[in-house]
Amino acid sequence: MNPKEIKEVKALLSKPKNIVIVTHWSPDGDAMGSSLGLYNYLIKLDHKVNVITPNDYPSFLFWLPGNKKVIDFSKKAKAAKSLVAKADIIFCLDFNSLKRIEKLGDEVGRSNAIRFMIDHHLQPDDFAKYMLHSIKACSTCELVFELIQLMGHKKLIDKNIGNCLYTGIMTDTGSFRFPSTTATTHKIIASLIEAGTENAEIHNRIYDGNSEGKIKLLGFSLGEKLKVLKEYKTAYFNLTSDELDRYSYQKGDTEGVVNYALSIDGVRFAAFFVERDGIIKTSFRSQGSFDVNMFARKHFSGGGHKNAAGGMSELSMENTIRKFEALLPEYKTQLNRK
Ligand code: 5GP
Ligand code: MN
Repeated sequence: MNPKEIKEVKALLSKPKNIVIVTHWSPDGDAMGSSLGLYNYLIKLDHKVNVITPNDYPSFLFWLPGNKKVIDFSKKAKAAKSLVAKADIIFCLDFNSLKRIEKLGDEVGRSNAIRFMIDHHLQPDDFAKYMLHSIKACSTCELVFELIQLMGHKKLIDKNIGNCLYTGIMTDTGSFRFPSTTATTHKIIASLIEAGTENAEIHNRIYDGNSEGKIKLLGFSLGEKLKVLKEYKTAYFNLTSDELDRYSYQKGDTEGVVNYALSIDGVRFAAFFVERDGIIKTSFRSQGSFDVNMFARKHFSGGGHKNAAGGMSELSMENTIRKFEALLPEYKTQLNRK
């Protein structure tokens, strides 16, 4: 945002407004952390604020302050539609194409509200009047912190806002280990802790509430399903809906598992395919120069970041994997490059 826009946004937020916050399909820690962090900030300014998700999200995020107020569009479409229609401002968090919010995108696209995108993914679409967008930001939560600071309201950051923003920064940086973690990230974390954020407890709430099924599904995935293709420095695995059922799959149970494939010595490209709601959802991760955003966009109708992206396939699981394996020779040189 340029100084003129910052001034405009300050003026816009200086009087109570009807505000809707939306985030991407199958929200993760950064999606919910940034949405609820912004929610807890905006209610302090006396705005009327509603957070709408396109569908449900993992239960390890249900403790986030404000969670009870979240409206799931897939369950309460009518209520959500009327809130979107009445909104003065719609914040679009952690996504940059209306396709990422599925049917909710039609409502947001046709609304007369001012759209404000806060996001850190590559190649944003042009649908928002205001954009706080940086691919250098480790997370959307980092950008929400920046917005609060730009508004001159850093002092308003309290435990609730801090807990939300910490969650997204922690999950999107793989607990502060990905190269996206910068000195700025750590400075923000320091101010969140100073504001009362319960940092150690948050790690506990997010990572130590595993069900038996989740851990056994992980064991099965790595023990029985993982395939390593040394020639392409690639490792991948897949899970069918039958396999998910066998381990009493709950939303979020496979989040992050693709990173185990990437952690294998010599592997630079990891993929995970999971059958959900009649389609195959894909997750891609890479280390170094291989660009999985490009790969996901080109071959699996998806996108994301250079080293972490996702997409989908409408083929059967078998054909999706066949397609994936058949693509690898094309990228052999790239995959073997440092
Ligand atoms: P994950 O593999 O954890 O689902 O997603 C990795 C990254 O890619 C996240 O930043 C996520 O927002 C993005 N992503 C996942 N699925 C899709 C998709 O279908 N389309 C786009 N554009 N981005 C995706
Ligand atoms: Mn994010």
